[in-house]
Amino acid sequence: MDNEMKLEIKSKSCNEAFARIAVAAFVSQLDPTLEEIADVKTAVSEAVTNSIIHGYENQDGFIHIHCILSGRDIEIEVIDYGKGIENVEMAKQPLFTSCPNSDRSGMGFTIMENFMDEMKVESILGMGTKVLMKKTLKEG
Ligand code: ATP
Ligand code: MG
Repeated sequence: MDNEMKLEIKSKSCNEAFARIAVAAFVSQLDPTLEEIADVKTAVSEAVTNSIIHGYENQDGFIHIHCILSGRDIEIEVIDYGKGIENVEMAKQPLFTSCPNSDRSGMGFTIMENFMDEMKVESILGMGTKVLMKKTLKEG
């Protein structure tokens, strides 16, 4: 199976559920297990939430989601043009959060890493952030 989709959503928290369900619906053509689909939804949800609350700091902006299917490999990119991350290595550490006073636990990147097979973060301060995630589904 080779297929591809691009989605552009406004950075509103009510669009987070739409994004995660849209990606899950697209990926479902590969007949993933319920666990695999739940993993993908959780990872997308964490990445999109980060773009909304950290990247755009709850202000207006657009988030691009790019999903590529190749055989049983899924590649998902979540891109924002928000404030960017100063130190990506530090941001990826479990429990690191720049908002310790809100209800953030600093586990978003750790969850994405654990629920997907691969996760890469590219960010330029003041320009934005790209999270690239890959997962290979079990043979159906
Ligand atoms: P949680 O996800 O557990 O609610 P969190 O969002 O703070 O808490 P992570 O998702 O692991 O934790 O992100 C770690 C930190 O990386 C954030 O606190 C923020 O400083 C930074 N960050 C993550 N994504 C972005 C982004 N898209 N743009 C700017 N900064 C980001
Ligand atoms: Mg987060």
